[in-house]
Amino acid sequence: IGVVKIGGAVGNDTRPLLDDLARRVGRGERWVVVHGASGVTDSLCELAGVACRYVTSPSGYRSRYVGPAQRALFEAAALSLSGRLSSELALRGIAAPVLRPDSVPTVRAERKDLLRAVEGGRRFILRDNYSGTVRSVAGETLEATWRSGALPLLPPLAFDEESGLNLNVDGDRLAASVALAVDADCLVILTNVAGLMEDLSRPESLVTQAGLDEWEALERLAQGNMKRKLLACREALEGGLARVVLADSRREAPLSHAVEGGGTQLW
Ligand code: ADP
Repeated sequence: IGVVKIGGAVGNDTRPLLDDLARRVGRGERWVVVHGASGVTDSLCELAGVACRYVTSPSGYRSRYVGPAQRALFEAAALSLSGRLSSELALRGIAAPVLRPDSVPTVRAERKDLLRAVEGGRRFILRDNYSGTVRSVAGETLEATWRSGALPLLPPLAFDEESGLNLNVDGDRLAASVALAVDADCLVILTNVAGLMEDLSRPESLVTQAGLDEWEALERLAQGNMKRKLLACREALEGGLARVVLADSRREAPLSHAVEGGGTQLW
C-alpha cells in the first residue's frame, strides 16, 4: 500500500505520474492519490477578482488566508482538478473516483476560524477563515474503494460538520494522515523540484537521505512551502510510517523512481 501526493503549484507535471500509476495499479498495487490545488486556485481567484492572501504564522509556516469567497473558489478549483485527474486515469483504464468529503465519509477537519499571523514583526489575527487541519480519515472508505477495483482520489479538502462545508486543508499533511490511516508502506510526495535541496540553484545539492534524528538540520535548509512539507513528513514518520520520499513530479516514471530510492528518502 502506498500514498502519493502530487503538487498543485505551477511547475508540477501530472502526466508522468498518471502513466506510471496506471502501470503499477494495473499490476495490482494499491495506491491512494492526494493532490494539491494552489496553482489552479490562484488563477481562479485572479479571474474572479478575489485577492489571494498568504500569511506567515508565529511559528514560521506560510499559509493561505481563506475567506468565504476564497473557500468557494478553492473548493471549485480543487474539485475541477480532481475531475481532470480522474478523467485522465479513466483514459488509461483506471477507475479513480473523486472522494468528495461532503458526499462520502473520508476526511474530517477541525476549522481554524482565526488565523494567527505575523508581518513585519507585528502580530495579528485574521477572522472568518475557512481552512482546517485534518482530524480524522475514514480508512474503511479507502479500503472499500480498493475492493471495488478502483483507485481512491482525494482533493485537498476536508468536511467540517459545524459549517457543513468542505474546508481547504494542506495537501501534504492530508497525505500524511491518509498514509497513517491506511497503514501505508510509504508516502511519496511529488513536487516541482528534485527533493529537499541544500541550495535550490545547485541540482547536485540534493539531500538523498535523512532520518528523524537529523531533523533540526533538515529544517534549517527549508524555506517557504518546503517548511510545511517537512512538517507533513515528520508527522508521518513520528506517527509510525516507515518511509517518506520527496521527489520530482516532472521526470518520467516519478513514482517508480521515488519507490526505488530516488529523490530525498526520509525515515
Ligand atoms: P507543491 O505544490 O509541489 O507542493 P510547493 O510550492 O508547496 O509545491 O513546494 C515546493 C517549493 O518549495 C519548491 O518549488 C521550492 O521553491 C521551495 N523550497 C524552499 N526551500 C527548499 C529546499 N531547501 N529544497 C527544495 N525546495 C525548497
